[in-house]
Amino acid sequence: MYRSTTCGALRASDIGSEVVLSGWVHKLRDKGFVVWVDLRDRYGITQLVFDADRTSKDLLEKARELGRETVIQAKGQVIERASKNPNIPTGEIEVLVTELTILNKSLLPPFTIEDDTDGGEDIRMKYRYLDIRRNPVKNNLIFRSKVTMEVRKYLTDQGFIDVETPYLIKSTPEGARDFVVPSRMNEGQFYALPQSPQTFKQLLMVGGMDKYFQIVKCFRDEDLRADRQPEFTQIDCEMAFVEQEDILNTFEGLTKHLLKEIKGVEIEEFPRMTFDDAMRLYGNDKPDIRFGMQFGELNEVAQHKDFNVFNSAELVVGIAIPGASEYTRKEIDALIDWVKRPQVGAKGMVYVKCNEDGSYKSSVDKFYDEQDLGKWAEVTGAKPGDLICVLSGNANETRSQLSALRMELANRLGLRKPDEFAPLWVVDFPLLELDEETGTYHAMHHPFTSPKPGQLELLETDPGAVKANAYDLVLNGNEIGGGSIRIHDKQVQATMFKHLGFTPEEAKAQFGFLMDAFQYGAPPHGGIAFGLDRLVAILGGQETIRDFIAFPKNNSGRDVMIDAPATIDDEQLKELHLKIDM
Ligand code: ASP
Repeated sequence: MYRSTTCGALRASDIGSEVVLSGWVHKLRDKGFVVWVDLRDRYGITQLVFDADRTSKDLLEKARELGRETVIQAKGQVIERASKNPNIPTGEIEVLVTELTILNKSLLPPFTIEDDTDGGEDIRMKYRYLDIRRNPVKNNLIFRSKVTMEVRKYLTDQGFIDVETPYLIKSTPEGARDFVVPSRMNEGQFYALPQSPQTFKQLLMVGGMDKYFQIVKCFRDEDLRADRQPEFTQIDCEMAFVEQEDILNTFEGLTKHLLKEIKGVEIEEFPRMTFDDAMRLYGNDKPDIRFGMQFGELNEVAQHKDFNVFNSAELVVGIAIPGASEYTRKEIDALIDWVKRPQVGAKGMVYVKCNEDGSYKSSVDKFYDEQDLGKWAEVTGAKPGDLICVLSGNANETRSQLSALRMELANRLGLRKPDEFAPLWVVDFPLLELDEETGTYHAMHHPFTSPKPGQLELLETDPGAVKANAYDLVLNGNEIGGGSIRIHDKQVQATMFKHLGFTPEEAKAQFGFLMDAFQYGAPPHGGIAFGLDRLVAILGGQETIRDFIAFPKNNSGRDVMIDAPATIDDEQLKELHLKIDM
């Protein structure tokens, strides 16, 4: 028996009992006549005491030699501590050791195994197994496990069935590049790793499974900007005989359940907003609605004066920053520089100080009088003491620039509180998105998403105007889930492929299996997928998904611990019928 209990379990009520503990040497304090060792495992820390007077001198000598992170087993008696530590649950007791076994020695770890470690990100990732011993990482993994357990519990209670789908498949178009796997047995042919189980879950509906879910890995070969991982986890779901309303209700239920069980937060009903409104009011299809700062469109009140920058702009739009009228010239210049950074891309910024006394001072006083500026304040909802920031130009670009500024300021002003939860359904997404570079349309969600009823004809005349039965669930400014009602009719699916630029032959070659299946009684169906990594991070009140993944990849898609990806030897290449050309 390696242990009779764990390092987090013993309390004052255990005083007098004999115990066996196993764990890692966390810390050692040597006072000469007595040695204390903090013994650590997943459950906590228990203080061991070695005392020549009360046990043996040999044992004390043995303890003195213990290095950090050595794995030991200690037998002894639980005794009351002379100086208690109220900061840890086991702080009232210690174990007077009578037998010590060294189970395995450890090299000196390259960084300290403490909550605040001296190890940088790179070294911690290389020795991730040591990093996982630290509380912040360990607790995140335990937290993630709790979330997935609640997901399974809720969905299972609702009658969902967990079905696994294959990883070695053919390409699924979710908008990214595929990772491919060469097939040894099928010379010159490749599998693709799923960007999601999309087509399989639809086939499960044709198969009559009715309610499916899976906590599943998805693979997308994307450039890894901003906290993305090439492999990530989805809570993937699909239901048959449903309309959009059924899906929204079911998964609002799941999200409420998680917020309640995990965070103790109860939310009555999630608000809904159309995609068009989200773009108009927040410049963003995943608005953080924990704070205001809604956009005010100023075309009507700011154009037709002599200010040509505005007159020639498609959109003039502003936001009011609460309590910022006192910003100094220097602070405002810094904001202007911020929006002009290439990552944001604005050409400049106009501002209006709404002074406490009701007067206005702007950077465009030459063109606009107090009355004009008063109207701007009205439209942007600015109050005395606020600063209005105004951007102008091409509508889409200007909206995304102002949205970036809104989020930056909210971060700076501490308006994005991690313990506040504001879910939002964004609905009525456009079916198609215009690729401005190539002038072609592609599916905004994916090609299996159905247009709103009665809008199929519009595809011929005004494809950009067609709305989809597609929805996203947004939480605190992050898209945590997205899905749609699917096409279940072969003809409609064929029409969709045509509009996405597939020839009938190409559509058949790539998705013939799905269109064939639609001919055998495909039920109306729809679904959604949640990004589990991000959901867990947000529920955990943190920003980076990497902190909630046991073995994440770095920004170049590398696992620095196992050193992957790596080359393979010539023999393996030959077997796979591959030649490296570089
Ligand atoms: N397969 C979609 C995705 O990965 C989700 C869905 O439509 O259910 O985004």
